[in-house]
Parts: sequence; structure tokens; C-alpha cells
Amino acid sequence: MEHIRIGNRLDVSRIGLGTWAIGGWMWGGTDEARSIATIRAAIERGVTLIDTAPVYGFGRSEEILGKALAAPGLRAQVSIASKVGVAWKDGRPYRDASPAHIRREIEASLRRLRTEVIDLCQVHWPDPDTPLEQTARTLEQLRAEGKIRLIGVSNYDAQQMEAFRAIAPLASVQSPYNLFERQIEAEVLPYAARTGLTVLSYGALCRGLLSGTMTSERTFAGDDLRNVDPKFRGARLRQYLEAVAALDALARERFGKPVLALALRWVLERGATIALWGARSPEQLDPIGQVEGWHLDADTMADIEAILARCAAQPVAPDFMAPPVRSAVEPAARGAA
Ligand code: NAP
Repeated sequence: MEHIRIGNRLDVSRIGLGTWAIGGWMWGGTDEARSIATIRAAIERGVTLIDTAPVYGFGRSEEILGKALAAPGLRAQVSIASKVGVAWKDGRPYRDASPAHIRREIEASLRRLRTEVIDLCQVHWPDPDTPLEQTARTLEQLRAEGKIRLIGVSNYDAQQMEAFRAIAPLASVQSPYNLFERQIEAEVLPYAARTGLTVLSYGALCRGLLSGTMTSERTFAGDDLRNVDPKFRGARLRQYLEAVAALDALARERFGKPVLALALRWVLERGATIALWGARSPEQLDPIGQVEGWHLDADTMADIEAILARCAAQPVAPDFMAPPVRSAVEPAARGAA
């Protein structure tokens, strides 16, 4: 398994397990036993970074992760990346990166995760209702208190990261990044390269689109976010599936690999990146060995670009996932610190 250092301190695998789906919420529910088996299978296969967040399943993802890591010796084998800055009320999330809320969240996360320290604590979304300096200062205090090891941000732009770094040391940024969602190439990726931040790429499989098993007949249960994801609808879905088929043919012909391996490999070839893989069953992790030990040459990169230009000419960003800001949910928060 390839490794990378986050913040010059934390040595982790370049494939990280993402546990949003394991929380169930917005993914049509969860199965605890299968989720625990998935987490343990990832560790057996060499994954040493697991990403979660309080809002995933409103605590459920962290709870399940805590349970999975409670088996003797497992916690010491992995680094936990969790988040702060999204609250919820009556099952509806909203951004809140205020000092008081962050402190409450950290205590709750440590309890659910059954751990004494969170290895990488990321601000989940920028919160325009809280001065960024207050968020950064609170995280720096938590680091000094030993409750978190490293600080990261998520869904931040370059300007927000620059302001944050003036107050607290930043180790990483987590952003949407995959073959079909490349908005961060304009600013965030170059900024991270310039300033030595590790990039945790979320949705590396574009919510399963790049797994190679998606079809236009597939239906999604309950609150699965793919029911509202514009990529999974009508003509746009057909266009993405056409791109997946062409990428799969290219990967098989040139490297003897499936499109899933190509998609993850592509993320790993883009700099100091980690690919977060949202697997929900041990079997989904079976292809993990196929991601390692090879590289994409310049000709293949150019051929990939040509396929994307031809088949995914009008890409859509994953903006539909962004939670509302606090002042939209609680008007009293407007202007509050
Ligand atoms: P993803 O990894 O692109 O896709 C996850 C989905 O892909 C799974 O639910 C599964 O869907 C499918 N899949 C995975 N392996 C497969 C396989 N071998 N064969 C077939 N299908 C497979 O999306 P993601 O979970 O949204 O992103 C990864 C992680 O990034 C998350 O878990 C979370 O930790 C993080 N994330 C962070 C943010 C943020 O704002 N910071 C936002 C999104 C995600 P099925 O249901 O079809 O099995």
C-alpha cells in the first residue's frame, strides 16, 4: 500500500476508507454488522486512514467506527480523520463552526469514537456566520490540549485556507475530486501543492458512477442522495455511463485493470493526494490491490482527457451536497459570532 504523510507527521495509506455511506443517512440506510466488517476488511487490506464526520448518520458513522475499532489492537493501526462544523436539528444539518459548537462536537466525537484523540480534525464546510479566525483559533487550542493531532479543512477555497493558515497550522484540505468533478484543479489543487497541504479527495468513485457496476436501470432506496444527484438522471447519466464504458475499455486494454482501479489511480497521480473510497461491504474493497503498483503515462492521461471531452462535455459540480448556512436555518444567527 502506498503511503503519504499528512502535516509532515501522520503517515497514512493513500487510499482512505470513507464512512459517510456507513452512517446510512442520505445513502438509504446502513447495516451495522456489514459496516463493521467493511472497516475491519479495509484495515486487513492495509488501509490506515478512515474518514468520518459527526453528521454522517447524525453520529451513527462515528459510533460504528468506534465499535469496529474497539477490537484489541485496531485503534493503534489507523488514523481517524473526523470533522467539525456541521450541526443538525430535527434531522436537518446546517453549518456551525462556532467555538462553542466545535467544543461540544469534539467531546461527542471522542465519546462515539471511543478514543482520546482525533488524528485529523477537519472543518467540514466554511461557515460564513462565524468569523474564520474564531474557528481556526478554537482548533489550535484543541490541538494544544491534545484532543486533536492535526488540523484540516474541507470544501474551503484558496482564500479561506490562506486566512485560516494565518491563525493555525493547516495540514490538509478535503475536496470533491474525481474524473468527473475537477473544479479544484483551478485553485485549490495548485494552492495545496504550493503550501504543502495533503489533499483528501472525496467521492473518488463519484458516488459509485466510476465503480463500473452502475447502470441506467439502477434504483436507489429511501433517502439515497443519488435520487437527487443531477449526474444520476436521464441524458446526463447516459453521458456519464458512456464515459465510464470508454474509460473501462481503455483501462482494460492498456493495463488489464477495471475502470474502478483507473479512477482511483488517476486521483493518486494528481499530486499529494489521498483517494477516499466509500465502500459499504468487504467485497467492494476486493479490487484494492489493483490500484497499486502501476502508473498512468502521459499518453494515457491525454487519452483520458479526450474521452472526458467527448463524453462528459458539460460536467456538473457536486454543489447539491452543501448543507445550508446557520443564518438560513436560524435567522438569529445572522451577524452572530
Ligand atoms: P464514493 O466513494 O465516490 O462512492 C461511494 C459509493 O460507491 C458506495 O456507496 C458504493 O455505492 C459505491 N462503491 C464503492 N465501491 C464499489 C465497488 N467495488 N463496486 C461497486 N460500487 C462501489 O463516494 P462518497 O462515499 O461520497 O465519498 C467517499 C468519502 O468521502 C465519504 O464516505 C466521506 O468520508 C467523504 N466525503 C466527504 C465530503 C465532504 O464534504 N467533506 C462529501 C462527500 C464525501 P452502492 O451504494 O451502490 O454500493
